[in-house]
Amino acid sequence: MLPKGLYEPIKTQRNCSICLLPFKRNVQLTYLPCDPRHHFHTYCIEPWLEQDPKCPICKVMITSRNVKQCMSLEEMAAFVREKDNEEYESSISQRGINN
Ligand SMILES: [Zn+2]
Ligand SMILES: [Zn+2]
Repeated sequence: MLPKGLYEPIKTQRNCSICLLPFKRNVQLTYLPCDPRHHFHTYCIEPWLEQDPKCPICKVMITSRNVKQCMSLEEMAAFVREKDNEEYESSISQRGINN
């Protein structure tokens, strides 16, 4: 079973890479074991994985083995927030250089 959680708003805008729509608050997402930032609407990723059990972003095979090794939902959410802060800060400093 893949970890699922409700979307929490973060600073950098994220879209579902399958339907390309931005995530909305309280929508259920499914996280893939390859990278916690690779998360999608549950209703998008479930039929996707039935067709082709690979991450739509990095093409890693989603197997029961790597699902077992993946982080807990709390660890994933913390990882996503940390990376989000890094990306947000680097986007600010890049804007600063351009000005
Ligand atoms: Zn979607
Ligand atoms: Zn991936």
